[in-house]
Amino acid sequence: ESLLLLDKVCKSYAVGTPAQTQVLFDIDLDIRKGEFVALIGPSGSGKSTLLNIIGLLDRPGSGKLYLTGQETSILDEAHVTSLRGEAIGFVFQSHYLLSAFTATENVMMPMLMQRGSPDDSMRERAQLLLGQVGLTQWQDSLVSNISGGQQQRVAIARALALNPPLILADEPTGNLDTKSADAIFELMRKLNRENGTTFLMVTHNMELAKRCDRIIELVDGKVV
Ligand code: ADP
Ligand code: ADP
Repeated sequence: ESLLLLDKVCKSYAVGTPAQTQVLFDIDLDIRKGEFVALIGPSGSGKSTLLNIIGLLDRPGSGKLYLTGQETSILDEAHVTSLRGEAIGFVFQSHYLLSAFTATENVMMPMLMQRGSPDDSMRERAQLLLGQVGLTQWQDSLVSNISGGQQQRVAIARALALNPPLILADEPTGNLDTKSADAIFELMRKLNRENGTTFLMVTHNMELAKRCDRIIELVDGKVV
């Protein structure tokens, strides 16, 4: 069953008026529910641009994108925003956590944004997710007081807060040493197997890419 489908997606950027430079060429992609896919390619090949489009942060210049069966070009901004909120969790190279708050509070944040005021069920879910990522012991620690690897675990728990079917991870292990990178990757693999969450991970780490279900390689804006 298809979770994410791209049909001839193209993207150009304005580089002055009226000059345009095309950075994505007829991208066709079909990612099924439960897959763990690596996206690789040299710097400048279009990975960030593609991830921004898949993450509904930017729109294709032409072509179609279907997420959870929904064709997105017909949606207005408000509907795109709500689809993004319910369908996608984001993990970045930098964790973008709120360092003055605890791990639990950070994981509660997406639930708070969605539902307004905090309640016990949010705290309980945050603690459950922190358990899944192996951080029960650190759940009440300030994010500024835990290690980089632990911070990335909090970011992963936060991405799972609203139980999205798709996690987009942009070089999630890029700032970590080999051992922590391996542990974070194995954690995402475990969450993929246990929860059925689909992952699309941009990485420069070929060792990790080889351990994914599938590798998609971009070169000069084309899937090769
Ligand atoms: P990476 O290679 O790690 O993907 P980049 O440095 O290529 O990162 O890009 C970082 C961000 O800057 C991306 O969001 C990208 O869209 C933006 N960017 C890259 N090149 C340009 C450019 N020539 N003009 C404006 N923004 C750019
Ligand atoms: P990657 O993530 O693989 O490094 P990007 O998607 O960041 O690739 O960039 C692909 C190409 O698009 C690069 O040539 C980059 O300079 C260009 N680019 C990215 N973002 C912008 C932008 N906002 N404006 C103009 N050019 C951009």
